[in-house]
Amino acid sequence: MGLRRIRVLFRDWRVREEIDEIRHRHDRELRFLCDAMLVQLGHWLRAAGYDTLIAAQRTADRALVARAIIDDRVLLTRDRKLCEIRDAGRHTVLLRSQRIDELVADITPRLGIDWLARPFSRCLVCNTELRPAPPLARSRLPPAVLETVSEINHCRQCDKLYWAGGHVRRMMQRLARWQAGDFT
Ligand SMILES: [Zn+2]
Repeated sequence: MGLRRIRVLFRDWRVREEIDEIRHRHDRELRFLCDAMLVQLGHWLRAAGYDTLIAAQRTADRALVARAIIDDRVLLTRDRKLCEIRDAGRHTVLLRSQRIDELVADITPRLGIDWLARPFSRCLVCNTELRPAPPLARSRLPPAVLETVSEINHCRQCDKLYWAGGHVRRMMQRLARWQAGDFT
């Protein structure tokens, strides 16, 4: 076995993830911290209802790990170096895929993600839990929407409104596909 191969094996051993422990500790509800390269995955986790923070660009690796530990969040990253930080392995899940469907296919069985847990219960922009829209906020929508949609939710943090329009319906279909194990 060549030296290079040994180095690779040693590195893989050092960055091993402790998925069982992560799942056990977060038995009731997983909460996530996505690094800045996984913004899209973070938005989809929010769409499914998971409490998910997305790191700002250029956040230091150590700061990310510290945040995951303090908040008791699962840190999702593609950065292998990050996993070598002390205590990171107990809080970090290393992802290898690039495309969103592949990322989803990867984490769904590993972490037991339920894509239909509480869909569209959180703001996709800021992660705040949504509430039924108050009348003043509802009044901003066009009459055609108000006539056809019964449930309209509101983010009190960023004032965004959510309802089952075409975009949300398409996202729901994708969540349902993922939940059914279809990651194509
Ligand atoms: Zn918001």
